[in-house]
Amino acid sequence: MIEAADTVRLFFALWPDSALQGRLAAWAKQAAGKARPMRRENLHMTLAFLGATQTTLLPLLTESARTVRFVPFTLRLDRIAYWKHNRIIWCGADQDPPALSALVGELRACLDASAIAYDRKPFVSHVTLVRNAPGLQMAQPWEPLVWEARDFALVQSEKTDGRISYRPLERFSASSA
Ligand code: ATP
Ligand code: MG
Repeated sequence: MIEAADTVRLFFALWPDSALQGRLAAWAKQAAGKARPMRRENLHMTLAFLGATQTTLLPLLTESARTVRFVPFTLRLDRIAYWKHNRIIWCGADQDPPALSALVGELRACLDASAIAYDRKPFVSHVTLVRNAPGLQMAQPWEPLVWEARDFALVQSEKTDGRISYRPLERFSASSA
């Protein structure tokens, strides 16, 4: 008999549209060399990381996320950088648009109101592009990209045969401006 798992590994994220996924993935593939580019379908920006969460909490979680109010915003990905501690190359915005910070604040406040646990580390906006990288390969120039964020997603993180995949479970739309 197949039993449903008691917990699921979850996070909230901005999910790029197909065109942006393609551009990010193309850059990552070119820049990676012997390092590991993120797969196109896995690219995202984490807004809040919940980790292992009781499956029974899913209805409360989605109900809570539906109450998050935010306006659509433009995110200019004009920064490319490297973190030595986890060996990733990532892109992000030099300055977060106020609407992005507001969305993260609102989302976390809704999770607090529902007593749903998440990692409380301060939000640092970034999209991981290459893993296990020795440094920032400057041979690959970065052209700023524009992200029109209209919604965010509740995402399940799963590992199958050592391969990670992220599966958006539900999308939550911005209110019209
Ligand atoms: P692995 O942990 O196996 O290397 P991963 O980091 O890609 O894989 P998850 O750990 O499930 O996968 O993380 C999903 C997303 O949440 C990633 O964007 C990751 O950077 C982010 N994340 C993971 N842990 C935390 C955390 N404690 N706080 C904030 N974000 C996190
Ligand atoms: Mg991880």
